Amino acid sequence: MGKLYFNYSTMNAGKSTTLLQAAYNYQERGMTTLLLIASFDERAGRGRIGSRIGLTAEADIFRSEDDLFTHVRTAHSDRSLDAVFVDEAQFLTDSQVRQLARVADELNIPVMCYGLRTDFQGKLFPGSAALLALADNLKEIKTICWCGRKATMVARLDQSGRIVAEGKQVVIGGNETYVSLCRNHWTQGDLGK
Ligand SMILES: [Zn+2]
Repeated sequence: MGKLYFNYSTMNAGKSTTLLQAAYNYQERGMTTLLLIASFDERAGRGRIGSRIGLTAEADIFRSEDDLFTHVRTAHSDRSLDAVFVDEAQFLTDSQVRQLARVADELNIPVMCYGLRTDFQGKLFPGSAALLALADNLKEIKTICWCGRKATMVARLDQSGRIVAEGKQVVIGGNETYVSLCRNHWTQGDLGK
């Protein structure tokens, strides 16, 4: 059986870099991979996974209504897949995580999901909640707070660099930025400046 993996972290911890490196390791050995990334809008077709250090790769875009078991099975019958990688996995729906679990169990293909654990208010994303519940293997990709402790939380900043406490879980096309903090400094709203 394949396994379902969830590699989770805060913002700016290098998730996409880690994903692209892992996918490259498969490709280097002549194996076939399928890369998926969440779409925030109604675009379909090809997308791109980009990392802060400049690595990029083409990926299929998925929307919340897409059946990912069918998507992967179709791709698999086309070009026998050795692994599936999912970026922005926090945006998967509960159903899609179950579909990916079936990819691992029924198609025997490992599925590596990468995403944020919690939002800026410290609440689980739907995809992350389902992955924490269903994944065979959980791994934290670590980064640090300005104080040197492990960062486990994400703060949303407005255009002036102030922490925002209220708002939607996902903002499309806004000017927000995000910073990763340890829980203590996240609770205190202390950006260390
Ligand atoms: Zn701290």
